[in-house]
Amino acid sequence: EHLAAIEVGDGDVHAFLHVDVDGARAAADAVDATVAAGDDPGPLAGVPVALKDNMCTRGVPTTCSSRILEGWVPPYDATVVERLAAAGAVVVGKTNLDEFAMGSSTENSAFGPTRNPHDHSKVPGGSSGGSAAAVAAGFAPLAFGSDTGGSIRQPAALCGVVGLKPTYGRVSRYGLIAFASSLDQIGPFTRTVADAALALQVVGGPDARDATSAPGTQPDYLAALDRGVEGLRVGVVSELLSMEGVAPEVADQARAAAEALEAAGASVQEVSVPAVTYGLSAYYLIAPAEASSNLARFDGVRYGLRVDAPTTDEMMVATRTQGFGAEVKRRIMLGTYALSAGYYDAFYGQAQRVRTLICRDFAAAYEQVDVLVSPTSPTTAFALGAKVADPLTMYLNDVCTIPSNLSGDPAISVPFGTGADGLPIGVQVMAPALGEEDLLRAAQALE
Ligand code: GLN
Repeated sequence: EHLAAIEVGDGDVHAFLHVDVDGARAAADAVDATVAAGDDPGPLAGVPVALKDNMCTRGVPTTCSSRILEGWVPPYDATVVERLAAAGAVVVGKTNLDEFAMGSSTENSAFGPTRNPHDHSKVPGGSSGGSAAAVAAGFAPLAFGSDTGGSIRQPAALCGVVGLKPTYGRVSRYGLIAFASSLDQIGPFTRTVADAALALQVVGGPDARDATSAPGTQPDYLAALDRGVEGLRVGVVSELLSMEGVAPEVADQARAAAEALEAAGASVQEVSVPAVTYGLSAYYLIAPAEASSNLARFDGVRYGLRVDAPTTDEMMVATRTQGFGAEVKRRIMLGTYALSAGYYDAFYGQAQRVRTLICRDFAAAYEQVDVLVSPTSPTTAFALGAKVADPLTMYLNDVCTIPSNLSGDPAISVPFGTGADGLPIGVQVMAPALGEEDLLRAAQALE
């Protein structure tokens, strides 16, 4: 049924870069065989799942929406892919993204944009726009994305679905093609918070193949949902209600969400987290710096595209010139500049110090409250093409989501009301590191 829905609807939406019909049928048959044999088929038995195309899938092309990876087929599965298969999930395909996950609208894909299923003239958000659109369009009840500065939560908000960025280290990054390694985190898109809890249970937990994987067994997330929000202390982040570009209707929904939590038994107060106002500036030095280093491996020798030239140096230059799109080149240049000897301390070092301040301010806030609430995206979905010519305007989309990446804390976006244009608004709930239980409890109370 889901493959048929994709066949009918994805011509317009373009959520998928690759639909793996044969692989999906084989995986579904394997689940049937397990059931027929009387064995446990796993907690996600037969559940169709879509994967952002920056997660390695053995034998299935993985492009990062970049020409530079065209033709590359990974020889191994990402840890999340292995864990989903072991749980009985059925991967239906790979979804569109901004090239190397750099963007907020999925318009930076080398293979054309994804459209918002609610309004095809609007963007789905990004960078995991294909995964968000796949769930919103009913192509799959579960999809995975990666979130470096908001790339799960912002498209979830714009597409009216739930998007969870777990604590940094909660989900293994093994097999996730790196953008900014100290910020990247994989997480689910779902229709409900309970589905997100189940999905995290399946893919999360320690992994020896990721050195930054958080140790210790995961709590039972679904059990936490049963506890409700009675007595939970909720803080509304005052700075994020009035950040540059945050539409009044979006701020109002964040306030309304806090009131809904209060009505459900939580205590609510406004709290100040002053350093979040510098998050965007710090992120756009740290993320490009890490990206410039991570993307050095795409040299025409090891992966995908190779543009022939007389010498190795010229071959590398020609390959990277043709293979990378404009935004990726912009990030590599920004990052290389920020890391260069004369500027390292003034830019990269300073950004790292700001990162520490953000962690400190969050820690102080979490002495007063258990979870924090804010808008997710400053606006509802915007028109295709509206922001492509102005990268700085595009970067502002992440002003509310970036702080939790810099601190490594978990955060989730839940649909909460609609804007004057009838499009979905998302509200963000944040919690301290490894605080997914309280996070999910609060999020569920907003459904
Ligand atoms: N939009 C942000 C960026 O372009 C975040 C991307 C992400 O989370 N992958 O860097």
